[in-house]
Amino acid sequence: MIAAILDAGCVWQPDMDRAAVTALASVPNSNDEYAGAIYRDAQGRYCYSTPVRGADDTFSFRVVLPTGTVLAGLYHTHLGDDGLAPLFSAGDVRQADRLGAASYILVRSRGIVLRYVPGRTGTMPIHRNGSLRTLTVSRGENLGVSL
Ligand SMILES: [Zn+2]
Repeated sequence: MIAAILDAGCVWQPDMDRAAVTALASVPNSNDEYAGAIYRDAQGRYCYSTPVRGADDTFSFRVVLPTGTVLAGLYHTHLGDDGLAPLFSAGDVRQADRLGAASYILVRSRGIVLRYVPGRTGTMPIHRNGSLRTLTVSRGENLGVSL
């Protein structure tokens, strides 16, 4: 399985949002989706992994944690411009909640970065295609940057 490893160019600093935005700004602008990890060290500083390429809206990679760090967040890109692109999907929300880690998405068609923080960012139920099944998604919080 592909590994997300610490980006050699990352400078450890205290702002997690900044780490995520810097990581997302480094993602190749292509028709593939990319994802990666945000690390926190014992001094409360953040850095990011290199981006890993996904396929068909799913990602499968393992996160290599540098010594003395924990997983603080994940980042990935959303392609397309349908109504779901600017939302954290049910899978995104579930994953962040399960890991207890923040999640960041770059909505490529709009050039915006959104943040989801478990237990803090609001969620909403949606029904897909008339299905009775409810999915829990999130609009996230717009970081107000433009990429
Ligand atoms: Zn997603």
